[in-house]
Amino acid sequence: MATIPSIATPAEQQDAFVLPAATIAGAPVSNGAPDATPIFNASTGATIGWQEQADAALVDKAVRTAHAALASWRATTPAARGKLLKKIAELIESDRARLSEMQMQVSGKPPVEADIDVGDAAATFNYYADLCLDEKAFAPETLALPDDSVTGERFYEAVGVAALIVPWNFPMVTTAWKIAPALAAGCTVVLKPSEITSPVEHMIAAIISEAGVPDGVINLVNGGGEVGALLTAHPLVDKISFTGSTASGKKVMQTAAQDMKRVTLELGGKSALIVRADADVDHAVMLAVSGAFTNAGQMCSATARILVHDDVYRKFMAAFETAVRAIVVGPPQASNVSMGPLVCAAQRTRVQSLVEQGVEAGASIAFSGRLDQACADGFFMAPVVIAEPPADNLLWTDEVFGPVACVKSFRSDEEAIALANDTRYGLVATVVTADREAARRYKTQLRAGLVWINTPQLIFPQICWGGLGLSGIGRELGLAGLRSYQELRHALADAS
Ligand code: NAD
Repeated sequence: MATIPSIATPAEQQDAFVLPAATIAGAPVSNGAPDATPIFNASTGATIGWQEQADAALVDKAVRTAHAALASWRATTPAARGKLLKKIAELIESDRARLSEMQMQVSGKPPVEADIDVGDAAATFNYYADLCLDEKAFAPETLALPDDSVTGERFYEAVGVAALIVPWNFPMVTTAWKIAPALAAGCTVVLKPSEITSPVEHMIAAIISEAGVPDGVINLVNGGGEVGALLTAHPLVDKISFTGSTASGKKVMQTAAQDMKRVTLELGGKSALIVRADADVDHAVMLAVSGAFTNAGQMCSATARILVHDDVYRKFMAAFETAVRAIVVGPPQASNVSMGPLVCAAQRTRVQSLVEQGVEAGASIAFSGRLDQACADGFFMAPVVIAEPPADNLLWTDEVFGPVACVKSFRSDEEAIALANDTRYGLVATVVTADREAARRYKTQLRAGLVWINTPQLIFPQICWGGLGLSGIGRELGLAGLRSYQELRHALADAS
């Protein structure tokens, strides 16, 4: 698989790269770029490259290639796959600076956030490498049965060809969360990155090839929703792992139903952060800022509904305002930058329009952050905080996916839990409290796949990621992440 050309800095615009429409069996497949779409630098708005689009024939070729590679890849030992996954993790670590740089260009992420993403991707490959090298998770298990005349065995087998579809907000991370367990399980894959941030995935795909993963085991097709739809509908795809909006996830699930394809759906969220009366308010403010404005709020896990106990509401709001006004919004290379731009012009227009609609419907802006001149050309937007929105206001009810947080007060734990759970999503929640017993109650009563108590949004490959309700189906990461690329099977034999 060819590595993509070196990153084009703004001074090198004439050398902008062109990403091939697909990478199949280790080779770039160009279609002459008749309908190539631009890749932007989110902080400057400049075009840094172009991406060719795959068509139905290329999607078919990519899936057939993955299908042809399946039998031999599935037959490799977990230990052999583990060695390759380790090598991928090492190569990601050694390419850390270049991967961070590309992530900063296409997403505008501040250096710290871009670097965390690379570290997370490497950690994920390392985790699944260790799981493979240990081999226990792959060993058949003997069953205790009530009948001595038969023996029973439970075992796991790779599902088959996996279609992996990812969004643009954490491209490298989301891709690693899917590719690492898929390869560990013995699946072959066709990856479709987001059309907005695909250079990062092209780099990861090149690293996977460089590590020695056989040609055909991982393939990549470029394109938007139409290409994703072609991929999910392909009859030779056995498993779909999709991360994106709930609206697209519903379509993916409908398509999967035609062939009973296995599906994992990681979808949207509208999560809550709860500040109890006994909370350390400064710590709560720090968690509120990072929960709402990391990655410019473009997080499925954004805790953009902030619930604050009446007793500390005024103190919290004063400190929150100071903290939000202190957020330095700017391009990654600016000093002390703590929030980057939105990913593209359309995303900024969308978020700004939602704020306007929310305000027209009765939400009031309590305070906002600020932009300075360095933000003139990119897709920047200042953080916005809404106080006490009406319960039916769209800024309170709908996923905004931008730097917009709402704050509401509450008087009792019951009220806080009811407000937090008053959503059809159920991805994550944060509770800030000094009371361990209260934390235990919140942990069980909040409807969320993951609850953080007094911590930032920590995620480790050892835990599982995924939501309840409209936030999706299935879990990524951890042992469950591996199992989601395996079929659980049983065999019974006579004991003689
Ligand atoms: P999106 O649904 O528009 O697109 C996501 C991906 O799916 C893209 O690659 C896109 O090209 C593809 N796609 C779109 N329509 C498709 C279809 N019909 N069939 C197959 N593929 C299709 O989402 P987005 O705007 O790129 O990302 C933002 C959304 O993703 C938010 O709702 C966010 O909450 C969600 N998200 C969820 C998680 C999670 O882990 N739960 C993580 C990140 C983002």
